[in-house]
Amino acid sequence: MKLFDKVLIANRGEIAVRVIRACRELDIKTVAVYSDIERDAMHVRLADESVCIGPASSQQSYLNIPGLITAAEITDVSAIHPGYGFLSENANFAETCASSGIVFIGPTPKNIRLGGDKSRAREIMKKKHIPVVPGSKGVVSTEEEAIKVAKKIGYPLMFKASHGGGGRGMKVVNSEGELKHAFYIAQREALTAFGVKDLYLEKYIPELRHIEVQILADGDGNVVHLGERDCSIQRRHQKLIEESPAPIASDRIKKKLGALAVKAARAIGYRNVGTVEFAVDPNWNIYFIEINTRVQVEHPVTEAVTGIDLIKEQIRLAAGMPLGYKQSQVKISGHAIECRVNAEDPVSFTPSPGTITFMYPPGGPGVRVDTAVCAGVVVPAQYDSLVAKLIVHARDRKEAVARMRRALGEFIIEGVKTTIPFHRRVLENEDFIRGNFNTSFAERLNGTKPKS
Ligand code: ADP
Ligand code: ADP
Ligand code: MG
Repeated sequence: MKLFDKVLIANRGEIAVRVIRACRELDIKTVAVYSDIERDAMHVRLADESVCIGPASSQQSYLNIPGLITAAEITDVSAIHPGYGFLSENANFAETCASSGIVFIGPTPKNIRLGGDKSRAREIMKKKHIPVVPGSKGVVSTEEEAIKVAKKIGYPLMFKASHGGGGRGMKVVNSEGELKHAFYIAQREALTAFGVKDLYLEKYIPELRHIEVQILADGDGNVVHLGERDCSIQRRHQKLIEESPAPIASDRIKKKLGALAVKAARAIGYRNVGTVEFAVDPNWNIYFIEINTRVQVEHPVTEAVTGIDLIKEQIRLAAGMPLGYKQSQVKISGHAIECRVNAEDPVSFTPSPGTITFMYPPGGPGVRVDTAVCAGVVVPAQYDSLVAKLIVHARDRKEAVARMRRALGEFIIEGVKTTIPFHRRVLENEDFIRGNFNTSFAERLNGTKPKS
């Protein structure tokens, strides 16, 4: 049975290429969309059809809902895949698709709305006895309220934007003296960046491990998890290296993470592919932080260790197919690591857009490179700096580390600065090799102060 005849991909870059690959294997035709500076982009070349949806600015192109729906209508597609970022977590977009008779390949608008309201999601998890980071009950709307919460949980703490994402909208507060100023700044920043000023408070955990769990749900109550990913190597609260399984974590902790994630997904009637993110403190206490209602950048590490194609699963589930397996049928095999290659300075992480003059991607056993660029391609300043994902899979972590080191040694990109030199340093680091790291690791290695 054919799932869909034709799918439009409302995205660009490597994730658009990734979705085209899954569609082709499922015998589904594809439509790429592009802004007018990306006419020759790889996702446009690889798709069966393409439509220009506006000028370079994302607001007028990849975020332009009427433009995307028009493109979908003129090309007569039956479904839209949103990728990650852009409109992937926009409930209005999912609703507009549905009311235009187009299937949105993702969770329900209700799921998306809840995932996007992080303080409300916290409250729901609390009710279901899923531990959350100690903090405020819902939104804190006044400075007095924030002081009251702070007295209870103690410093340092963190203001977080309820509708925040992409590592933005967080502010660390070390004392009551700092709180007042931080409150107003964080509120203003939240309003500017996310259109909603709502903030909530969490205890700041300086040495945490970010461990998340991949889930699959069919909307009929069947939920399975595909193991966990450690994403603690971060800069500015954004991930740089991810791996599965989580190093050092005991089987007991892994089981607990999986069970909590499934419980969280059930608690909100989740459907399709999603991720439940947890903060894990140095004593292995686990706290829910948020649920991401989309495919993650780092999904390939899970694909490597489970052999499950997550994009095909998204498409199948969106087409109404039931989950094809039980938890006991999910097997984790070996170890996988992903390094995000961004066009950025490898120490300051400032963006380095420009033309790629030469590129040689690594290959060989157990190596996967997901990218949409090659020599001659311009990395635009307008969009995300991610240019390639390098993923390795091996029998165990030791071999995966050696393989990643080997692959990074082969990887050549010239013309723009990239994070490859940073990754090479991490892969040589004794603490990283031992699996002894947390979210402060990257900034410590680079000698830059952790930024809040
Ligand atoms: P993950 O690694 O968990 O998939 P990231 O935090 O790296 O997620 O975000 C994935 C992509 O989505 C990045 O391109 C990021 O910039 C973008 N993104 C995520 N949330 C938002 C948001 N609220 N606003 C803007 N961009 C976002
Ligand atoms: P986003 O929606 O932007 O992805 P998250 O709530 O998932 O935001 O947090 C992103 C990152 O910020 C985490 O991976 C972690 O590094 C850091 N972080 C989040 N909450 C805390 C906290 N309470 N204490 C310390 N660091 C935190
Ligand atoms: Mg997050």
